[in-house]
Amino acid sequence: MKDLINLDKQYYMNTFGDRFPVCFTEGNGSTLISTDGKKYIDFGAGIAVNALGYNHPAMVKTISEQAAKLIHCSSLYYIGAQAKLAEILVKNSFADKAFFCNSGTEAIEGAIKLARKYFKTKDASKYHIITTTNSFHGRTIGALSATGQNKYQEPFSPLLSGFSHVPYNDLAAMQSAITNETCAIIVEPIQGEGGVIPATLDYLQGLRQLCDQHQLLLIFDEVQTGIARTGKLFAYEHYNVAPDMMALAKGLGGGIPIGALVATDEVASAFSPGSHGTTFGGNPLCCATALTVLSTIFDDHLLDQVTANGAYLMNKLNNIKENYPFIKEVRGTGLMIGMPLSDRFAVIDIVKQMLELGFLILPAGNNTLRFTPPLIITQAEIDKMINALTSVFDTLAKY
Ligand SMILES: *Cc1c(COP(=O)(O)O)cnc(C)c1O
Repeated sequence: MKDLINLDKQYYMNTFGDRFPVCFTEGNGSTLISTDGKKYIDFGAGIAVNALGYNHPAMVKTISEQAAKLIHCSSLYYIGAQAKLAEILVKNSFADKAFFCNSGTEAIEGAIKLARKYFKTKDASKYHIITTTNSFHGRTIGALSATGQNKYQEPFSPLLSGFSHVPYNDLAAMQSAITNETCAIIVEPIQGEGGVIPATLDYLQGLRQLCDQHQLLLIFDEVQTGIARTGKLFAYEHYNVAPDMMALAKGLGGGIPIGALVATDEVASAFSPGSHGTTFGGNPLCCATALTVLSTIFDDHLLDQVTANGAYLMNKLNNIKENYPFIKEVRGTGLMIGMPLSDRFAVIDIVKQMLELGFLILPAGNNTLRFTPPLIITQAEIDKMINALTSVFDTLAKY
């Protein structure tokens, strides 16, 4: 491990700082195994990516068979799995058309471009996009301009012009930020990196009304909340509100990098040949894998399982909360749960102690523990994690 740490420090850009001192070499189900053979139960899932956990037989089969046939070919040619994946996303959402890319930030870039292009011929003065503070939309310059967190933006200013940020879950603030130049609103139905903060029902429904009233496009960033994470295929389904566009990535490929931008026909038709494109996006390997992720979600009834086990985890965490006053709240939906702690204890220390005990959990904004396990996590695994967390909290409570 020491050699690897030194190698990394010498040759890899210092963008991740001191990483957790562990290297995983294989996984199975929701369990990861490190170089020294130690097992870890994963409640982070590669940041809500490994939807089907590790070494899932259906994924292994698809990836190895597809790799043996054709990994990549350009989208200059027709790609069977790409068209089928677009069909499945469309048939199971508000959208009529899909476009595939490689990451969440790229899906957001596509959304920004499509929103601007949509208004270009209608009213070229409308190009301004409103997003929310504490949001996270990605790290490329366009998506970073949308991201409402100073710590990510400040080192790279000046950013792309035409963005403003207003407090989340504050409809009045959104309303007063709308001008004649506004073309779109981008929000996460549940802020993920910001600390697992769900939008209220009134907020998302109110945003839809505002967008209709002012002829703006409503864009949901479901990069983290999408693909069954919350117990519905997409989080917006909990709210009875459909956007005009939606960005997807993280769980979509179950670990294979793929992102998607989906939109209504009306909006999508603003892209004409040459407007947008990609080299890797939507290649046969990525699309075949995403198809398998989605068919497994449907065939194995994972939406119901996520709902049941999400409620189970939520309930257990709420029970813990009763005993420790430094737990402020337990919030979230399905298997996307946040537990903000009072400033008395740093979440990162708890994450490290849980790692020692063989459990991966994630920190998120504002001193929050974040639980986003693989969608296949079991109640027995949840029980084990809860026991470990209780023991960590017990030690803390003494101080
Ligand atoms: C992770 C994330 C992104 C960025 O995705 P990348 O694949 O890291 O570029 C964008 N939006 C949300 C809501 C995310 O959680």
